[in-house]
Amino acid sequence: EAKRKNIGGYLFYAHEMSETLLENKQLAEALIAALNSDQFYLNYQPQVSLSSRKVIGFEALARWNHPVKGNIPPDQFIALAEREGIIVTLGDRVLQLACDQAVKWLSEGIEFDRIAVNVSVKQFVETDFVSKVMNALSLSGLPANKLELEITESLFLGDKKVALETMDKLTSQGVRFSIDDFGTGFSSLLYLKELPVAKLKLDQGFIRGITTDHSSLQIVKASLQMGQALNMAVIAEGVETLEEQRLLVQLNCGEAQGYLFSRPVAGDKVNADLMEAIAEHMTPVT
Ligand code: C2E
Ligand code: MG
Ligand code: MG
Ligand code: MG
Repeated sequence: EAKRKNIGGYLFYAHEMSETLLENKQLAEALIAALNSDQFYLNYQPQVSLSSRKVIGFEALARWNHPVKGNIPPDQFIALAEREGIIVTLGDRVLQLACDQAVKWLSEGIEFDRIAVNVSVKQFVETDFVSKVMNALSLSGLPANKLELEITESLFLGDKKVALETMDKLTSQGVRFSIDDFGTGFSSLLYLKELPVAKLKLDQGFIRGITTDHSSLQIVKASLQMGQALNMAVIAEGVETLEEQRLLVQLNCGEAQGYLFSRPVAGDKVNADLMEAIAEHMTPVT
C-alpha cells in the first residue's frame, strides 16, 4: 500500500516537474520577446542623503508586465533569466535603458549624483562586460561618473582576480561600485578591503529590525563603523518608517532609500515636484 502511494507520488511529481520545465521555457521565450517591447521597462527609486535631505541618486529596477500574467515580480523573472541563460541579454537592456533615462533627466535639468544599476554575477564575469558598459555610456552620452553598478557579495565566491580586474578597469573610467544586500552574503572583510567599492548597501532585512531587535541594530552599527573604517559610503535600504529614519540619522548613516521617501517610479515621474515632495516629507535632522 505504502509502495503504491510512493510510486504514485513519484509519478505525480515527475509529471509536475516536466510541466514546470515547459512553463519555464515558454516564459523564458516570452521574456526574450518582451525585452525590446514596452512590456519590459524600468522603474527608479530615489536615494536620499540623510544630512542634506536631498535626492542624490536613483536605483533602476526592472519591471515586466506580462500580457496575460500581469506584473511578474523581478525576484521571479530575474531568477528565471539566470536559470534560462537570458540574464546577460536582460542586463544589457537594463544598462542601456537606465543610461538613456539618466541622460534624459540631465537634459531636463534634474540633478543627481548617480544612477545605480543592478548587475548579476553572470553578467559581470562575461569577458566583454567592461566594453558593454563603456558602450552603453557612449551610446547614451552619460558621463561614466554618473553610473554606479550594484554587485553582490556572491561575486567574490568566484574568480577574485577577474572580478578585481574588471572593477579596476571600470573604476579607472569613473564608474563606481556598491555592494547590494550587504550583510546577507559571504564577503570576507579582508577581501572587501582590497576592492574598489564606494558604497555598502545595508540589506533591508537588517533595517526592518533596527527599532525593535537588538541584533539587527548591532549589525547595522557594526556595518556603519566598517564603512567608515574602509572609507565607503553606507546606504540603508528599505527604510519605511520615521523611527527607522531617526535612528539612522542618530547613527550617522549617510544615505537611505525606501518607501518612506518614495516607491520606485516611472522615469517620466521623476521631476522637480517629486524631488521637492521627497525632501519635504523628511523630518528635520536633530
Ligand atoms: P534590490 O536590488 O535589493 O532592490 C531593492 C528592492 O527593495 C526593490 O524590489 C525595491 O522595490 C524594494 N524596496 C525598496 N524600498 C523598500 C521599502 O521601503 N520596503 C520594502 N518592503 N521594499 C522596498 P524589487 O524592485 O521588487 O526588486 C527585487 C530585486 O530584484 C532587487 O533587489 C534586485 O536584486 C533584483 N533586480 C531588480 N531589477 C534588476 C535588474 O535590472 N538586474 C538584476 N540583476 N537584478 C534586478
Ligand atoms: Mg539593488
Ligand atoms: Mg538591495
Ligand atoms: Mg534585494
